[in-house]
Amino acid sequence: MALFSNKSVLVLGGSRGIGAAIVRRFATEGASVVFSYAGSQAAAEQLAKETGSRAVMADSADRDAVTELVRSAGPLDVLVVNAGVAIFGDARELDSGDIDHLFRINIHAPYHAAVEAARQMQNGGRIIVIGSVNGDRMPIPGLAAYAVSKSALQGLARGLARDFGPQGITVNIVQPGPVDTDMNPAEGPMKALMHSFMAIQRHGKPEEVAGMVAWLAGPEASFVTGAMHTIDGGFGA
Ligand code: NDP
Repeated sequence: MALFSNKSVLVLGGSRGIGAAIVRRFATEGASVVFSYAGSQAAAEQLAKETGSRAVMADSADRDAVTELVRSAGPLDVLVVNAGVAIFGDARELDSGDIDHLFRINIHAPYHAAVEAARQMQNGGRIIVIGSVNGDRMPIPGLAAYAVSKSALQGLARGLARDFGPQGITVNIVQPGPVDTDMNPAEGPMKALMHSFMAIQRHGKPEEVAGMVAWLAGPEASFVTGAMHTIDGGFGA
């Protein structure tokens, strides 16, 4: 029997990049997968068709849309919050509304989704949020709000692990370094600078991150909670 047969998995932000690799991984291993998207309808529909999963339009910036999706998808065995955005620029010049929008997607949505999921999850439930090594280390200017948002997830994991531990639900953060996606293409202008910080000087693959997520969702990780799991080629070493 496949590892995630009869398991119900919701991935917030699954249409592209790391999220799409996570959807593929769970679907391949037998899970019933629902994923959300905001802008990439064609990619979402294609992925749903390819994997037998279900795509739902739900903007992570909209708290009601997120909690309604989690509520209607439940009870979940696994919630993965992957949706995230980055804004690059001098903090003094960036639009404050854009920064609040980033915080809604990167901080508020993971928090409210995790809490809503835990209301219905059974013992053994798994909540996994995609953070970033930038939650630990920010070696360049221009990404302060992004770093704030990824550090905030560390508090989310530590605090909610305490709240949900007695229910048998684990809460963990996966912290990738540079991964080859639309957000951070391997051949982008920052390539040489980013690789200079790394022990393994290449971008990661979305599938490598999906592998760590699958492990955290699986039976071998039953004693792992409130923790950050960095997968970054040594970026933060
Ligand atoms: P991409 O930009 O390639 O993909 C982002 C995904 O999130 C898309 O499926 C997108 O869907 C979805 N998404 C974005 N905003 C929303 C929203 N408001 N509502 C619903 N879905 C949304 O990013 P990555 O795959 O690279 O990143 C995924 C996660 O990994 C993010 O949290 C990011 O911060 C984190 N990360 C990425 C790293 C990298 O180097 N790539 C490094 C460290 C962390 P749609 O297009 O449909 O809106």
